[in-house]
Amino acid sequence: MSAKKVIPYKIYLEESELPKTWYNVRADMKNKPAPLLNPGTLQPMTAADLAPVFCEELIKQELDNDTREYPIPQEIQDFYKMYRPSPLVRAYCLEEKLQTPAKIYYKFEGNNTSGSHKLNSAIAQAYYAKKQGLKGVTTETGAGQWGTALSMACSYFGLDCRVYMVKVSYEQKPFRREVMRTYGASVVPSPSDTTAVGRKILEQFPGTTGSLGCAISEAVEVAVSNPGYRYVLGSVLNQVLLHQSVIGVETKTAMDKYGIKPDVIIGCAGGGSNLGGLIAPFMGEKLRGEQDYQFIAVEPASCPSLTRGKFAYDFCDTGMVCPMAKMYTLGSGFIPAPNHAGGLRYHGMSSILSQLYHDGYMEARAVEQTKVFEAAEQFARVEGILPAPESSHAIRVAIDEALKCRETGEEKTILFGLTGTGYFDMVAYEKYHDGLMTDYIPTDADLERGFAGIPKIDL
Ligand SMILES: *Cc1c(COP(=O)(O)O)cnc(C)c1O
Repeated sequence: MSAKKVIPYKIYLEESELPKTWYNVRADMKNKPAPLLNPGTLQPMTAADLAPVFCEELIKQELDNDTREYPIPQEIQDFYKMYRPSPLVRAYCLEEKLQTPAKIYYKFEGNNTSGSHKLNSAIAQAYYAKKQGLKGVTTETGAGQWGTALSMACSYFGLDCRVYMVKVSYEQKPFRREVMRTYGASVVPSPSDTTAVGRKILEQFPGTTGSLGCAISEAVEVAVSNPGYRYVLGSVLNQVLLHQSVIGVETKTAMDKYGIKPDVIIGCAGGGSNLGGLIAPFMGEKLRGEQDYQFIAVEPASCPSLTRGKFAYDFCDTGMVCPMAKMYTLGSGFIPAPNHAGGLRYHGMSSILSQLYHDGYMEARAVEQTKVFEAAEQFARVEGILPAPESSHAIRVAIDEALKCRETGEEKTILFGLTGTGYFDMVAYEKYHDGLMTDYIPTDADLERGFAGIPKIDL
């Protein structure tokens, strides 16, 4: 018998072992992510430029490429204790089912009412808004996970919360909408006639079912035109990756406790926040030359920002009111084919992850949705958890890697992020079960139409 500790099915941390700091991976990047640009002047956005839109402390975090550790304020640590640590699970049942010599672990972030990792940043953003003495915040939500998380966080701190929800989701996901209203948020289907940009879009495209980029434009307009309000965003931004590093720091603490070193780390990538958070401390070690890991970002084949996008400055929203970010992008006018992973339909990607991918520190794969649901179902049947379609992208690639190990006999240690649960996605599961799910992959011509909208700027 080996003297090694037996790895339990679930690895938990004691309350005293929970992270006290977030880790800012930018501090260890040689090539820093490119700054946000003012679309009018093409100059880097300063704190003063951003102040009408975002909370002060969050702006500081957004622009800070140097501070390695940020203390997590006590109030946020206290809130985290309600649903953290999230379990790190050894997928013994999945390994058995796959007959693989690989060791598979997943970090499960779906154990809170909002059902995803988004609460980790929502609570931080609500906290800083409250501390600044604001009345409320505005935001957009697509599939609804971010809006739900933010509603929970705002009700905790007594902040007003206005959510612009992409119209098609507002109509198709009434239950998510009602969860938000239960937590006291007001939810408006976007585009709406409550904003100038919404009215303009409705006039140009009557009958449109909306898009994330359009909802962002509306939420920003409301924030800047109402005193005491600011806009908050659930992904893509540097500050969000900073907050989400709590996922990675917890994971690393738990793995270190048992002497486990992952070989491959996998996460789904929409705007990049869960993946950026999960890999953060591991990527730090790689950037400092202390350890090597293989990182894999997984995206839908229908919205392939990393695998087929361009690395360029682009608009973050359809209305072009937000700063421009340098990122892998399909163009702000790109409309992905209907895909059931709503949280992965954004046209761009976090600037941090884009830079790391560009510099060769990370790989990316695009997967088709029927293959994703096949993996989701296989996972649910052996591990019990009903995964969100977004999360199932990571499951797909984790299973593919484990099956490769079965061929080669390699005993790799695979870690993936299981970002949430799929209870509100049963229409998608129904389509899959009834054989009605399709795998639309954009043609090069489709992508060219999106690329044509990327601003041509020489820097
Ligand atoms: C929003 C969401 C994602 C994708 O967002 P990232 O910012 O890329 O992490 C993934 N999974 C779930 C469950 C989500 O709600």
